[in-house]
Amino acid sequence: DLVWSKLPGSERGKYLYRIARIIQEKSRELAILETLDGGKPIKESRDFDLPMVAAHFFYHAGWADKLSYAFPGRTPRPLGVAAQVIPWNFPLLMAAWKIAPALACGNTVVLKPAETTSLTALRLAEIFQEAGLPDGVVNIVTGAGATGAALVNHPGVDKVAFTGSTEVGKKIAQAVAGTGKKLTLELGGKAANILFEDAPLDQAIEGVISGIYFNQGHVCCAGSRLFVQESIYPAVLKKLRDRLATLRVGNPLDKNTDIGAINSRAQLDKIRALVQGGVDEGATLHQSACALPGRGYWFAPSYLTGVTMSHRVAQEEIFGPVLSVLTFRTPEEAIERANNTPYGLSAGVWTDKGSKIFKLVSKLRAGVVWANTYNKFDPTSPFGGYQESGFGREGGVQGLAAYCRLG
Ligand code: NAD
Repeated sequence: DLVWSKLPGSERGKYLYRIARIIQEKSRELAILETLDGGKPIKESRDFDLPMVAAHFFYHAGWADKLSYAFPGRTPRPLGVAAQVIPWNFPLLMAAWKIAPALACGNTVVLKPAETTSLTALRLAEIFQEAGLPDGVVNIVTGAGATGAALVNHPGVDKVAFTGSTEVGKKIAQAVAGTGKKLTLELGGKAANILFEDAPLDQAIEGVISGIYFNQGHVCCAGSRLFVQESIYPAVLKKLRDRLATLRVGNPLDKNTDIGAINSRAQLDKIRALVQGGVDEGATLHQSACALPGRGYWFAPSYLTGVTMSHRVAQEEIFGPVLSVLTFRTPEEAIERANNTPYGLSAGVWTDKGSKIFKLVSKLRAGVVWANTYNKFDPTSPFGGYQESGFGREGGVQGLAAYCRLG
C-alpha cells in the first residue's frame, strides 16, 4: 500500500502501460481462456472483451500522472485498499474496469472474481508479475459469496466496488453503511430498446438482435424489453423471426458461433423458470429451431410476444437470450413504459429524427442511452445506473472520482 501510493503518477502509469501491452500480446491466449472458462463465443472474447480490456489499462495509464487535471483546484489522493467483487459475464473486462482506475489513482486492490469464472483473473495476476508490479499491489482471492462478504466486511478495506445482482448489492450496501468505506454498485438492469416507425428498420433489427443476444444475454445492460411502435409491429416481428433463424448456437470456440453456452447450470435453470413463468402468464414463446449441442448448458435464442407490463418477464432480469416484445403508440407512452421498472441502467432509441432522440434521452431514467446503436462502450465514457441498478460510475473522469479522496 505504502510503496504504491507513494510512487509518482508517472511511474504508476508506466506499469499500467506495460500491463496493457502484455495483455495485447497475450490477447489470443486470454480470449481462448475466457471462452473456455465462461462459454462466451470466441469472436466476442477476441473482438470485444480483449480489445476493451487493453483499452481500459491504456486509458487509465494516461490518467495516472494527470489526476490534478481531472480535478482542477482539488488535490486527489488515493483511498487505500479497494475491495472489488465481480460477476461471471465479462470476467476479465470487469477486472480491468475495476483494477485499472484503482491503480491509476494509487490504491491497492483485493479482487474476487466470480466462482464460475476465475481463470482469467488468475492469469491476469501472472501478467502483473511479468510487468514487475510490486508484490501485494493487486491480490486476487478466489471463492464464492462468503469470500466476497468476508472481503467487503474486512476492517482494512477503504473502498468497496461491486458488480453483480441487485440482491447482493443491497446486502453489501447494508454491510458497508456507517463504516466510512466508499462504495460503488453496478447492479442489474431491464433495459428498454425503443423502436420508432421512422427508424431504419434493418439497422435497428441488427441492434435489437445484438442488444439482447450478445454474450447469451448475460449482459446487465442488455436490451431485454423491446418496445415497438404499433404501426410497424407486424413488419418487426417478421424481420425478428427471420434474423433469429440465422443465429448459430454452439461450440463457443468455433469462430462462426453467434451464441455460446449458458454460464452455469444455475443460470440455465433460472432462465428456464422465468421463461416458463412468462408462458404461464399468457405470453407466447418464439424460439429459433436451431439444433443445440447434446452436452452442456444451452438455451435457444428466443423472444416472447403477448407480454404485458405486469408480467414477470417484463419486470425481472432474465439474464439470458430472451427478449420480451411490447408495443407503444406515442413517444410519451414509450417513455412511460420504458421508465416503468425499478432499474435504470441503460436504454436504446431507434429513430431517424434527431429531435425525438433528444426528447427521449432527457426523459429516460437510465445511466446510458444509446441512439441508433446498442452496446457501444469506451473507457472515456462513464457507465452506471440509477435506482436498483446501483450508483457511482465506472469509466471516464467520473470513474476516477470513485477511487480518489478529493482534498
Ligand atoms: P451475484 O450478485 O450473485 O454475484 C456477483 C459476485 O458477488 C460474485 O463474485 C459472487 O461470488 C459475489 N457474492 C455473492 N454473494 C455475495 C455477498 N453476500 N457478499 C459479497 N459478494 C458476494 O451476481 P451474478 O449472478 O454473479 O451476476 C449476475 C448479476 O450481475 C445480474 O443481475 C447482472 O445484471 C449483474 N451485473 C451487473 C453489471 C453492471 O455493470 N451493472 C455487470 C455485470 C453483471
